[in-house]
Amino acid sequence: MQHSASSALVVSGWHRMSYSFNDNTLISQHLESLIRKLHAFVGNAVTQDRNIVFGAGSTQVLSAAAYVLSLANSSSSHSPTRVVASVPYYAYEGDAHTWRNRSESDASTNVIEFVTSPNNPNGLLYKAVPHGPNVKTAYDRAYYWPHFTPIPAPADEDLMVFTLSKLTGHAGSRFGWAVVKDETVFNKMVLHMQVNSIGVSKDTQLRAFKLLKAILEEGTQIFDFAYQTMKSKWERLATTLSLSNRFSLQKINPQYCFFYNKVRESSPAYAWVKCEKEEDKDCYAVLKAANIIVRKGNVFGSEDNYVRLSLVRSQDDFDILIQRLQKLVSEEDGAI
Ligand code: PMP
Repeated sequence: MQHSASSALVVSGWHRMSYSFNDNTLISQHLESLIRKLHAFVGNAVTQDRNIVFGAGSTQVLSAAAYVLSLANSSSSHSPTRVVASVPYYAYEGDAHTWRNRSESDASTNVIEFVTSPNNPNGLLYKAVPHGPNVKTAYDRAYYWPHFTPIPAPADEDLMVFTLSKLTGHAGSRFGWAVVKDETVFNKMVLHMQVNSIGVSKDTQLRAFKLLKAILEEGTQIFDFAYQTMKSKWERLATTLSLSNRFSLQKINPQYCFFYNKVRESSPAYAWVKCEKEEDKDCYAVLKAANIIVRKGNVFGSEDNYVRLSLVRSQDDFDILIQRLQKLVSEEDGAI
């Protein structure tokens, strides 16, 4: 809102009607170069000597990655490929810890691990779990921006996925990208995108270009704004729950952040809340009764004494959430 004019996009009715850009590709070279500049400015990913693939949100890019990595696996074996992720995970099937031993001992088990880092729902900077000859890894870096987490180093994994949804919040524009080290994997992903959807909407690419340009013109401003917003939400939530014996919040250790040049706390997008008492094992129901809507732990492969609260809603929603939590905590027996 503070940069309405510089971030606005006006497109004439006749403009950008073709499938491709003037250079016959499906990817705006201007947008690609802004993405590289942005990663270099923030220091959150290595992009030199790597290729970039665009998708309709990180969802499409991750699905392309899973498809292409499963092709790479199948040349060495005919067994099916399993996609795994560590519990609690963001809506991927499987559990990386369960598969650890099998992938190490059984050479015919093809595994693709999705590593969400920082993780949704608990904000931890996860690293890949299983190792073995047939294990491929894709890093979901959706939340690896200074507003959510310290940036201890530029990420330099083989395949890293980012999204506008969590950088600027423009989830509805459906724009995500992968930074890919291996040329063959990259070429197959590009081909997959061509066959799957003939590339990403040109309107979306223009919109993403305009937004990223406005961000880069203002230095650290949007990150400072978003960091302060998330930090203040996290602190208010932590203070509220620190008075409770019934609910606890995940602990994330502070780390050195090369973006802010200091040791700092995380300021995550979600709170991973545990209902501590045996009688509260349906944590969702406990909060629902207090008029607080959350997501159940079992959605993330966890027990139902855990729930996820979203901190990336509007400020009004958040203020009401805090009010209701404060009321709930103040009603506890022996509340501090
Ligand atoms: N990965 C993670 C970890 C997410 O939390 C989300 C959105 N909640 C996505 C991917 C999907 O984002 P999009 O398709 O909008 O880029």
